[in-house]
Order: sequence, then C-alpha cells, then structure tokens
Amino acid sequence: MLNSIGKTKQLVMLSGKGGTGKTSLSAAFAQLSHLPEYGIQPVFVDADVDAANLSLVLNPVLGSPQEFWGGSLARINPNLCTGCGACVPVCRYDAVLPDKDEKSVYWIDPVACDGCAACVYVCPEQAIQMVQQQEGNWFQSTTPYGTLFHAELFPGRENSGKLVTLVKQQARLWAEDIKTPLILLDGPPGIGCPVIAACAGADLALIVTEPSLAGLHDLKRVLGTLNHFRVPSMLCINKADIYPEGVQQIKAFAAEQELKILGEIPFDEKIPQAMLQGVSVTECYPDSPASLSIRKIWGQLIQQLNGCEEAS
Ligand code: SF4
Ligand code: SF4
Repeated sequence: MLNSIGKTKQLVMLSGKGGTGKTSLSAAFAQLSHLPEYGIQPVFVDADVDAANLSLVLNPVLGSPQEFWGGSLARINPNLCTGCGACVPVCRYDAVLPDKDEKSVYWIDPVACDGCAACVYVCPEQAIQMVQQQEGNWFQSTTPYGTLFHAELFPGRENSGKLVTLVKQQARLWAEDIKTPLILLDGPPGIGCPVIAACAGADLALIVTEPSLAGLHDLKRVLGTLNHFRVPSMLCINKADIYPEGVQQIKAFAAEQELKILGEIPFDEKIPQAMLQGVSVTECYPDSPASLSIRKIWGQLIQQLNGCEEAS
C-alpha cells in the first residue's frame, strides 16, 4: 500500500515513441491501484493532448468540456486598413497576404501567423489587433477507478505543452482536495515540449520500451530528457520475448546508465484482445502472462514510490 502521509506523488509513464504499450500499462495500473491490497484511488492524467487514448480503456463518464485558450493571432480590421502595406515586410512568417475575398487589401493567414505582434506595432492606422484563440478543451471525467483529467488540442494548434501543464495543474488541485497519494500520468510519446511538461515535477518516471533497435534509440532519447530534468527513472521492457538479443542490448545500456529494470512483460495476445473490449488486460485476463508480469511491476513501483517518500 502506498503511504498516504506527505505530498501527493506523481508517476509519469513515458516512451520515446507511440505504440510501445504505455497506455495499456497505464490502464492496467489504474485497475490494479483499485484492488484492496493497494487501496489507492489515484488521480489519472492523459497527458497526450494531441491523441488522448487512455479514456478509451478507462471508459469514463465524460465531464463537460472546459475551454482552453492559448496564444493570440493578429487580425486586420478592414474598416481601418488603408492598404499601405507597412505590415507586409515585417512579417517573418509571410502571414500577411492579399485578401482574396477583397473585404480588405490584406488578410492574415491564421495558420502562418506566429503571434509575434510585429505587424501591430508598425500599422499606422491601429488596424491590427491580437485576438486570443481557443485551442482546445479539457475534461474532468469519472472512471470506475477514479477521476481522469484529459484534453483535446484542436488540429493544427501548437500549445500542447501549455495544455498539458494546465491539465496537470487541475489534476494536482483535485488530488489535494481528495487527499489522494498518487497522480498517475500517461505521458505523450517523443521528447518534445509536451513530454517536458508531463515530466516536470514528477517523482518517478517509468519508461516503457520494446526490444528493437528503434526502441533502444528512443529509450536513449527519453532517458536523456528525464536526466536533464533530474527525474528519477526506471524501465520496463514490453514484448520482451520477441527479440532476446534486443533485450540484452537494452539491459547492457540500462546497466551502463544505472537504470533499474522493474520487469519484463511477455508478448501476450490478451493485451490487444482486452484493448478491443475497452478494458485493461489485468481486469479482463487477470491470469494471463502479461497480467502477472504487470502486477509484479506495479508492486515494485509502489515500493519505489514509498522509497521516494522516505528519501524526501
Ligand atoms: S503577428 Fe507576427 S506572425 Fe502574425 S501576422 Fe503579425 S507579424 Fe506576422
Ligand atoms: S499596416 Fe495597417 S493599414 Fe497598412 S496594410 Fe497593414 S493593416 Fe492595413
């Protein structure tokens, strides 16, 4: 059982790329956390705001969408614009274009505009305004295992790191309200801005990798990011029996980096079968080889998180 005294801990699940089984594992941990021997009711966060999918397995009752407002984009007021053209050369993004609709001489392409506001300052007629944009929605939803915070970024929008930070803040406030000892984050793939936002302030990261050359490459990249931000990291190897040589390469790298391996999960067709049913594998097939390995890994994670508490 996870100590409930002290600050709420954050466990973030990461992988260098998508498709490693990270979300299946997060869903299984959500289900296991609810079992009497653990007795935790974590708050869950799907930090992949570009393609949230934890909700597909946790079957939430969706909360009302809450608007996410991101950056501002320039807009020309056709009633004030005289067509002097002063705004065209200052735009480094070639976003000021002739207006095809001929409502004005110029028009600002919202996809190209970076929101730098240079055009606003040069316009002699004060015809350009910066207008804040709604870039997505976030949700506080209810799953059978606890509250899930998740979000959707609108297509083509770029503030995914900011939206991840917002969703995490909401999750932390809720966790403090209900006094839960754990926030479990299913992180985004890759190593970009949303990953940095997801791992900020984490007490522990579990990297999920696969035994392949690409898997090793992605593991190195994501570990580099976590080390840079001084997030303690551990590893588990999914589909470990499909390429033993790859497992040895990952083990050699982990030993070199003093990266603890919490366990290996065998390839198990019960995982995709459970996903198709929209249920975690540990709930649907509790005695399958993958479920038994995942249970062991979860038990070790709880021990590690308790260790974080004692060390802090
Ligand atoms: S705000 Fe910046 S990027 Fe957008 S149109 Fe004006 S100068 Fe170009
Ligand atoms: S600088 Fe102002 S007035 Fe001149 S073209 Fe641009 S928007 Fe119109």
